Amino acid sequence: MTQVVLASNNAKKLAELRRILTPLVPGIEVLGLADVAPYDEPAETEPTFEGNALIKARACLEVTGLPSLADDSGLCVDALNGMPGVLSARWSGVTKSDGGDAANNALLLSQLSDVPDVRRGAQFRCAMAFCSTDGAEVVELGEMAGRILHGEQGEGGFGYDPLFAADGHDVSTAELPAEEKDRISHRGKALTAIAPAVVAALTS
Ligand code: IMP
Repeated sequence: MTQVVLASNNAKKLAELRRILTPLVPGIEVLGLADVAPYDEPAETEPTFEGNALIKARACLEVTGLPSLADDSGLCVDALNGMPGVLSARWSGVTKSDGGDAANNALLLSQLSDVPDVRRGAQFRCAMAFCSTDGAEVVELGEMAGRILHGEQGEGGFGYDPLFAADGHDVSTAELPAEEKDRISHRGKALTAIAPAVVAALTS
């Protein structure tokens, strides 16, 4: 069994990543940050998802010595000029450990309260970075387009899922079966794109 560390403390994001990656990379054991010695996670100081994903994956490789994957992702809302973007996790100013999802969703809804349906377009974006022990670095991107709903719908997923309906779907991504979200999601697309690089690094 070959080990890879996913540099995330977000339990729900980690569960999605594990679920998607395990069938794509035969024989892989996917560790989370809870499975390795604790370290101070680096600040996400870059203005792009790609830059922040690389910061997280590089730090994880450096500390653990294990091949490392990191996801940086967020919601880009057309009517907010692409925000919250890289600020998605802390849009309301509440830190993740304080359970920021509810406050983030309430703030986003209030900001869009007078925005009509035709202008509620949005995209979830994900950058997935992989740093292997031989120094190779790969970043792949994934996107899921859709719209912001007028209220929360559904209990599944995490983050902004209750407020987001993907194109071609009448329900929120919090109402979709997990396999369907994985099939169309930004994270599913980025992980599927990066999986061959992970397989190559682990088998070389
Ligand atoms: P990160 O952990 O710094 O990459 O923050 C990502 C943030 O973007 C999360 O805390 C969520 O608020 C949001 N986000 C990213 N992907 C998703 C998703 O699949 N569903 C809902 N929210 C997401």
